[in-house]
Amino acid sequence: MKCLIIDAVHSSIAEEFSKYMQVDTHMLPTQEELAKLIPDYDVLIMRVDPAINKEILDAAKNLKVIGVCSVGLNHIDMDTAKAKGIQVFNAPGMNANAVAELTISKMLDLSRHTIPANYDVKVNKNWDKYKFVGRELRGKTLGILGFGRIGQRVGELGRAFKMNIVAYDPYLPAHVFEEQQATSMSIDDVLKTSDYVTIHMPLTPETKNLFNAKSIAEMKPDAVVLNMARGGIVNEKDMYEALKAGKIGGYASDVMENELAAGGLTEGATFDSPLFECDNFIVTPHLGAQSTDASRDIAELIISKVKE
Ligand code: NAD
Repeated sequence: MKCLIIDAVHSSIAEEFSKYMQVDTHMLPTQEELAKLIPDYDVLIMRVDPAINKEILDAAKNLKVIGVCSVGLNHIDMDTAKAKGIQVFNAPGMNANAVAELTISKMLDLSRHTIPANYDVKVNKNWDKYKFVGRELRGKTLGILGFGRIGQRVGELGRAFKMNIVAYDPYLPAHVFEEQQATSMSIDDVLKTSDYVTIHMPLTPETKNLFNAKSIAEMKPDAVVLNMARGGIVNEKDMYEALKAGKIGGYASDVMENELAAGGLTEGATFDSPLFECDNFIVTPHLGAQSTDASRDIAELIISKVKE
């Protein structure tokens, strides 16, 4: 058998599968390149790029299994895969802790101004502790929009910081909130009461632009917003205007509306946004799931499913 790996996945996958089959790596082929490569392979290991369309699956004469080392499957034509008897495995929930820890780190960074302070010391050579007086998480209200695997883990970590947890998720039964010691609220009440609002819902037609100028107007002026879910849920233009006008305490994001088109896969591509002008905006390049622990856990699961 032959296995093709097309993304940066944990090395244990290649090590393990090399015991049974030929393992080749071709990093991030385009859809056209993959359609040409795929006929030889029995196993495909990937993350989210490129999207697996019907043309690729039609060309995949020998393919038996796709191991997707990430959570979602909406980049794969599942109907065609099913019709062709190609099994597709993913790793739901395996990166929840990685994303949740990054969320908490951003809450701490924004609250204690660690990023501008670090810059002030290293770049401006200043050592001024009075410039960056922050606030603690303890006793504050943490509002979680989308209370699934990641949202619940953020809630657990927030409780360890002695925060009050409130959450909005209309698709969950009441007992989930009780078990998680969180108060279930409408989205408006979460926005009104929270000192930190963190977004952990999928991007859907319903959630696109869900967080906008109207949401910001409901919040406390020193509250902080975090988007660790998907670009497009937060209206970046509205957020920029609110930050500039001092209507909101800060915005931390791991995702942006045009992240793929602007940078992402194209080597050397640069990425700009008006938000970069704002000191109280902090951003990371979709790092949520990027921990060695999460990749190892995901790899273990994918190895066992593919072997089965
Ligand atoms: P999950 O499916 O366990 O939880 C999502 C929750 O959102 C569900 O409980 C669902 O009921 C809720 N929801 C759906 N629509 C909603 C709406 N309109 N309003 C309120 N709640 C709604 O998923 P998860 O594993 O917790 O991941 C959440 C999201 O985080 C994913 O959809 C993905 O976009 C994002 N994510 C980001 C990274 C990253 O690297 N930053 C990594 C993994 C996942």
